[in-house]
Amino acid sequence: MITQTDLITKNYIGGQWHELNEKGRSVYSPSNINEKIGDIHYSTPEQITAAVSAAREGFKTWKQKTGVERAACLYKMADNLEKAKETVANLASREMGKPISEMIGEVMRGVNLLRYYAAEGVRPDGQLVPASDQHVLQYSKRVPLGVVALITPWNFPVAIPIWKIAPALICGNSIVWKPADNAVFTAGLLMEVFEDAGLPAGVLNLVIARGRSIGDILLEEGDIDAVSFTGSTSTGMQIASACAKRNIKYQTEMGGKNAAIVLKDADLEKAIPMILSGAFRSAGQKCTATSRIIVEKDIYSDFINQLRAAVSNLTVKDALQADAYLGPVASKSQFDTISEYVALARNEGEIIAEGNVEQSNQGYYIRPIVVGKVDASHRLFTEEIFGPVAAVVEVENFEEAVRLCNQSEYGLSASIFTNDMEKAMRFLEEAEIGMVRVNQETAGVEYQAPFGGMKSSSSHTREQGQAALDFYSQVKTCAIKYSF
Ligand code: NAD
Repeated sequence: MITQTDLITKNYIGGQWHELNEKGRSVYSPSNINEKIGDIHYSTPEQITAAVSAAREGFKTWKQKTGVERAACLYKMADNLEKAKETVANLASREMGKPISEMIGEVMRGVNLLRYYAAEGVRPDGQLVPASDQHVLQYSKRVPLGVVALITPWNFPVAIPIWKIAPALICGNSIVWKPADNAVFTAGLLMEVFEDAGLPAGVLNLVIARGRSIGDILLEEGDIDAVSFTGSTSTGMQIASACAKRNIKYQTEMGGKNAAIVLKDADLEKAIPMILSGAFRSAGQKCTATSRIIVEKDIYSDFINQLRAAVSNLTVKDALQADAYLGPVASKSQFDTISEYVALARNEGEIIAEGNVEQSNQGYYIRPIVVGKVDASHRLFTEEIFGPVAAVVEVENFEEAVRLCNQSEYGLSASIFTNDMEKAMRFLEEAEIGMVRVNQETAGVEYQAPFGGMKSSSSHTREQGQAALDFYSQVKTCAIKYSF
């Protein structure tokens, strides 16, 4: 039975909702492909340009506001979101398949991010710099960039947009936000939640558009001052090149192939649940998901036996079930891509551990698997899969483990499980990785800490924490000679 709803995507531009002219496709829930979520309509080139003009107008007002005034809007956005947390989490969970309990946690992360950056409205935003001459007051201060374009993926449909929107706003920028197709309805709902937060018209604009047209219109020609992108490495590299050509500021946060190293002295009872959480929560669709498990040979068979038992207790369920640990993957295209990797694992490796699926509806359900008997140059060990598939290899010792961890084009996150302080510290020093963790899963870096990767995982800036303020502002150095 198809449950019809009347959700249709619209743009939010200049403080008003606008219907879209180009009809796209209908979206169905990945937990139940007979449940319709809504219809995507896309922007025309003129509608994208209108969003940029509205943001340019909005910037004129917003940049004049004090930090305290901006903060008041962010606190209201946070309060509104907290009140709507169940509704937002429910829609996001239906739209892209993240388990409801995790989705509620993600919405609360959004609330915390908004409050964290609101508080920046009353913090120092510059430095007093000594001058060589007498009677000179010299200081530096942050000033906004202008109109920033935010391009977001679907896998954190609430937290990633907010960890860009909140610092961009508190620094005084206006925004054109383009969410991913698999998260457009959640994006529309977030805008509704933020509508009465007191932001002047044109400060926060939402455009629903195909990635291609955003690339061609917004990035090539749009009157924008900066771009913050999170998504795949291939798209990110195109965006970086378009921005570099125009000399506008950009940041790209991209893919990962994250390793968890398990040394012979690790506490397996504690390590295995964290490795599974890193590998399989959100059905492995986190940029920081554990996708390579590197195990020291002395404990390899113990580790595999305990891992097998733990994975056999994992069950993929409808994302809306309160006890769902893993939900379906987000879309048909995710399902098709991951299924190819699963087939590769069955044909060229050995399935070492496998979970279950329990569902009464038809959806994009994939059993979590751990694959072994592939060497470190195999595609399963080198390519980002972005699904519930992890590959395990056995190594001689710590040195080989770190070498394999670093043997990747990516450098986003990695963990080591050990009680050996010296090896833990050496790993933190030697890993060519942006987020390194000891006795913790590869995912789950907190919102107040810098977030980002090395090598092909990032354009080498950072999001979240204080680092985001550096991206969304530029520094002006001022000097006043007040007496001659
Ligand atoms: P994607 O690259 O397909 O899309 C990301 C966004 O870019 C979407 O909004 C998409 O519509 C847009 N886009 C596509 N082509 C474009 C173009 N030519 N010009 C401008 N915009 C364009 O990525 P995805 O499938 O949505 O997300 C999954 C990827 O995101 C994975 O690789 C994952 O590792 C990565 N990711 C990285 C981080 C991080 O912080 N490093 C966080 C989450 C996800």
